[in-house]
Amino acid sequence: MYNVVIIGAGVIGNFIARELSKYKLNIAIVEKDSEVSNGTTKANSAIVHGGYDAKPGTKMAKFNSEGNPMFDKVCKELDVPFKKIGSLVLAFNDEDMETLKELYDRGIENKIPNIEIIDKNKVKEMEPNINDDVIGALYSPTAGIVGAYELAIALAENAADNGVELILNNEVKDIEKIDDGYKILTNKQEIKSKYVINCAGVYADKINNMVAKETFKIIPKRGQYYILDKSASYITNHVIFQCPNKFGKGVLVAPTVHGNIIVGPDSQELNDDQRDELQTTSDNIEYVRNTAVKSIEKIPFNKTITNFSGVRAEPDTGDFIIEESQDAKGFINVAGIKSPGLSSAPAIAQYVVELVKERYDGLEKNKDFNPRREMIVFNELSKEKKAELIKKDPRYGRVICRCENITEGEIVDSIRKNAGATTVDGVKRRARPGAGRCQGGFCGPRVMEILARELNKDIEKIVKDGNESNILTGKTKS
Ligand SMILES: Cc1cc2nc3c(=O)[nH]c(=O)nc-3n(C[C@H](O)[C@H](O)[C@H](O)COP(=O)(O)OP(=O)(O)OC[C@H]3O[C@@H](n4cnc5c(N)ncnc54)[C@H](O)[C@@H]3O)c2cc1C
Repeated sequence: MYNVVIIGAGVIGNFIARELSKYKLNIAIVEKDSEVSNGTTKANSAIVHGGYDAKPGTKMAKFNSEGNPMFDKVCKELDVPFKKIGSLVLAFNDEDMETLKELYDRGIENKIPNIEIIDKNKVKEMEPNINDDVIGALYSPTAGIVGAYELAIALAENAADNGVELILNNEVKDIEKIDDGYKILTNKQEIKSKYVINCAGVYADKINNMVAKETFKIIPKRGQYYILDKSASYITNHVIFQCPNKFGKGVLVAPTVHGNIIVGPDSQELNDDQRDELQTTSDNIEYVRNTAVKSIEKIPFNKTITNFSGVRAEPDTGDFIIEESQDAKGFINVAGIKSPGLSSAPAIAQYVVELVKERYDGLEKNKDFNPRREMIVFNELSKEKKAELIKKDPRYGRVICRCENITEGEIVDSIRKNAGATTVDGVKRRARPGAGRCQGGFCGPRVMEILARELNKDIEKIVKDGNESNILTGKTKS
């Protein structure tokens, strides 16, 4: 019997697990996928929002403003890329200027530091590629960019290092109330726990309805993106937003932590049964392109290296749902975590830990908690350190991904770690082979070979991303 079971290994579930591992608790994360961070957390804008956008008084405003300043420390502890580059919301007409004023006032109410409305000259000085018809902008210097899936993976690794059990490939199918807690029925087993924390992203309403009254619905909303090659990085140094509209924060243009440019997203409501539909579509991707050029006319879309999409878990209540269920004591929903969910994650995790502590008499601290998780990025080491590492392990001397300069040593490390990679995309999200210009065209087969060797699997069983995404279907010359 566990003390706490967390359903869902996205950034929210993993953050809560890591925070809870600071206490003497028997904790498990139950995840339906074969990898952590494979839901909404793997596909979003990865912006740590300044916090001026959410309506004052909402949970979104509270957790965004509290979460943003926590990123420096946690990203340092976990070796996760995070850059506080600041954001600009652009205005092109008087109506937009009114919106900027509203956002500024909200920012002041949300206690966001150092925001200011700047004029056209200042905007052009900061970002010369922004279109000439800009008339002003809201500048938020504390906004940043983060490796979103890297963060969720690092949290899972660190939680596992600190004793959290990771139960992958287990889809929760039902939950039953039992005397001293809950019985969770997955496609593979029964798991008992005193407390259950529902962090199931776009499926959080379904999980809630297994055990409690239906009090909210999740509306899936897809957003699509372009990723441009690093050679396009000159176009902006800040996160560039347009004024928000009824569809949300709108289409942005921003650098990524790895030096690419991200452009998107749109917002498209999907049907209830389309929660996993991650395809990109020509109409929506064209809308993104046509909207983005209103910020920067000369975006070099010919440098696109990939398109992708992510699905938002939009709650019909309009705000995050973070509370113990009224009719299922010990069952805590952390649901409807749409944007700014990533930015809010550190503060949400701390809040949920307080909820658990209130319900748990005599919770003791885990004195052995280790906050550090380290990552070797070979390319970023000094010449001396590189030589030292290659001497110790020659696999660091073999470059597998030539676009991103990733060595076999880094790939092996990403597989062997606690909560390590099991798929080609899992390796890509941890060590980055295949994240560059050729998108795995050259290194993909090598990564498959390494995965097969390290996991002791037949290479035909190595999948791209998830259970049915086979790459090889059989031998041609058997
Ligand atoms: C287009 C887009 C742009 C965004 N941009 C930003 C941004 O710039 N900044 C920001 O702060 N936020 C942003 N967000 C929001 C942010 O991505 C989310 O708030 C965050 O990723 C939510 O994390 P999560 O852990 O709640 O959900 P997820 O990452 O989806 O994790 C939920 C997990 O639960 C698992 N699961 C589901 N059902 C079951 C089951 N039955 N059994 C077991 N496991 C189950 C899933 O497999 C998944 O791994 C954006 C979102 C989208 C879609």
